[in-house]
Amino acid sequence: MARTRRVLAALTLLLAAGAAACGKEGSPPVKGPQPEKLPHYQVDTAFRLDSSPTWRRAAKRGHFTVGAKEDQPYLGEKDPSSGLYSGFDIEIARMISAALGLDPDRIVFRTIASANRETALQNGQIDYYVGTYTINDNRKKLVGFAGPYYLAGQSLLVRANETDIKGPQDLAGKRICSAAGSTPYQRIQQEYPRAVLVAYDTYSICVDNLLTYQVDAVTTDDAILIGYAAKAPDELKVVGRPFSEEPYGIGVPRHDNALRFAIDDALEANERNGNWKKAYDATLGLSGVPAPKPPPIDRYPAS
Ligand code: GLU
Repeated sequence: MARTRRVLAALTLLLAAGAAACGKEGSPPVKGPQPEKLPHYQVDTAFRLDSSPTWRRAAKRGHFTVGAKEDQPYLGEKDPSSGLYSGFDIEIARMISAALGLDPDRIVFRTIASANRETALQNGQIDYYVGTYTINDNRKKLVGFAGPYYLAGQSLLVRANETDIKGPQDLAGKRICSAAGSTPYQRIQQEYPRAVLVAYDTYSICVDNLLTYQVDAVTTDDAILIGYAAKAPDELKVVGRPFSEEPYGIGVPRHDNALRFAIDDALEANERNGNWKKAYDATLGLSGVPAPKPPPIDRYPAS
């Protein structure tokens, strides 16, 4: 009996040591998605869109310049050593580039924070934007939106040991962090005025503040928060049910309707041929949520 117990104890130790080694030198943590799991996007070399000033400029320079996020797990992440971007939003940007005739490997990504997206599109800094960008009427006065390509909802991220905050009704007197210029920030400001709002440029700074007890919760879309929680499951958790609808669109310059409709076509084609699902499974799907059905494209009239 005693011997069995000793053997078992030794085995447990061995297994634990093996598991620990796995996470260290033996196998470095996977940074982005596994390349072989991602779709290959066929470049439509015959494609032309001369009616779009944005497309004409991009075709002349030989690549699209795309605005994105760089600190949102599984959605838009930049590898600090290689400078490469990866994630679901990045795959959406790539499938669009290929459909519009330009090599996705040549896309130049620019990190643009939530508060600066409209300006970046208005002053021609980027051709289009793919980064958890909610379509709404206010923003439609400033930019155009193709899509939606995904439907998220506002939620709350708290420390794993948090017991008081279970939903937005529990935020009175609590310090809540979100990104300046975001729809979740505006919703807390308008609908939960007793919360103490803290704004930063990015959600990753909010998460740092949460981990160091500077704030009590981070609020933004569930898709973003689930990614942070999946990367630190012992420290963080997402609580409650989503309390808004955040349809993600591709931001384009306000009056470039030709570009907007061409991107709508590209999204529909990639949803039909399976690339959308394959891209989701290899990126955002890694946070543990199975692929939903993509929402219907809203091809609103030219403006
Ligand atoms: N989807 C929301 C928004 O567009 C929150 C995420 C973000 O800030 O990118 O404002």
